[in-house]
Amino acid sequence: MKTLKTILILCAGFAVATFAAGRLDAQDLPHYKRVVKALSSARYQGRGYARGGANKAGKYLEKEYRKAGADEVTLQPFTIDINTFNGRMAMWADGKKLKPGVDFSMREYSPGVHGEFPVYHVDTLNFDADKMFSDLARPEYANCLVCCEFWFAYRHKEAFGRLQKAGECTNAGLIQTWTSPIKFYKAYGEKVVDKPIIWVTPEAIEGVKSVRVDVDNEFLDDYALFNVIAKVEGERHDSCYVFTAHYDHLGNLGRRVWYAGANDNASGTAALVTLAAYYVRHRPPYDMYFLSVSGEDANLRGSEFYANHPLVPLERIRYLFNLDMIGDNNPVQYCEVSDEGLRGYALFERINAEKQLFQALNRGELAANSDHYPFASRGVPCIFLENQEGDAFPFYHTIYDTWKNAVFDSYEPVFNLVTGFIARY
Ligand SMILES: [Zn+2]
Repeated sequence: MKTLKTILILCAGFAVATFAAGRLDAQDLPHYKRVVKALSSARYQGRGYARGGANKAGKYLEKEYRKAGADEVTLQPFTIDINTFNGRMAMWADGKKLKPGVDFSMREYSPGVHGEFPVYHVDTLNFDADKMFSDLARPEYANCLVCCEFWFAYRHKEAFGRLQKAGECTNAGLIQTWTSPIKFYKAYGEKVVDKPIIWVTPEAIEGVKSVRVDVDNEFLDDYALFNVIAKVEGERHDSCYVFTAHYDHLGNLGRRVWYAGANDNASGTAALVTLAAYYVRHRPPYDMYFLSVSGEDANLRGSEFYANHPLVPLERIRYLFNLDMIGDNNPVQYCEVSDEGLRGYALFERINAEKQLFQALNRGELAANSDHYPFASRGVPCIFLENQEGDAFPFYHTIYDTWKNAVFDSYEPVFNLVTGFIARY
């Protein structure tokens, strides 16, 4: 009996210590993996805009938050104008068929493109803009695609800007070479430019004299998306903690190819669901909001909308945590912190050192690169956590960011870092 009593006291003591320290429970990691796997599955078609994948994933999240026991779940609708590639997606280089998502993809704001085109390769070693334009005036290059490395074109914006505008040059459009495997860089085409821009890997286009292209685009006006906001009530209601993670991703590139986005950002999205479940089991000191936003890959549209229409005034946010791409294994954890969040940053560093979570935190310059930014720019204390440069990082915005290639190492230390922070801030 005495032994049993001792065990009970020890157990109670352990439970209290666990709560105070803010450490993940045994069920959290399997739960996390289940949600990452579901969100990365074919059912959600890369959580894009053209086939309703993002909205289907939003409905799934609503259910998951309810299952987790959240006190309230709110769907917050908003609309975007967006360019998508949901139809034909084919390309041949000197007769050889290229693979969408592997050899080529599209700039997000490109129009569709159909036909046979000569290719003009820019001489980047001895570049002379005047010479390029006089070459392009020759009849054999009328209606050509001008091919050049992306960063080179970026550095010579003036000349290459002219090649994108109607009426400036007789070229039909541009081919930009970039990394291999090819990235589908962004899906934020909120406009469509005059001439098509195709991303191709350097290997697929090297020495190629002509290409045939058959690519459809579809511009969606006022396309309806929604944020999913779960609330877990704490002991106090006068202020709150907020977690953000975007659940949308790049969606489709043509009819067959879709981008699973296991790391970007099924990882952060699944972490929010498990954090909500955790705080239902361990009631927090303050109200908690789990804000799963859509429209991130369309220029932070969902978080921007929420910041303009918050459920509770932004001044009442004690701290906001944005998790975007935490499915990786770099022992050094990247983060960005708003000016108002710097006082809390010292505590993050202390907790990280005491609990030996990551080798170090690496704080970078605050940028408009994810959903913390609309809050940081409005004076909300916040941190953005993204695990960069690990094994999953090369898959960023490629078709290889899949469940099969998912990495889970950074989930537990991120979880313990934020819950440890909330226990002490
Ligand atoms: Zn992301």
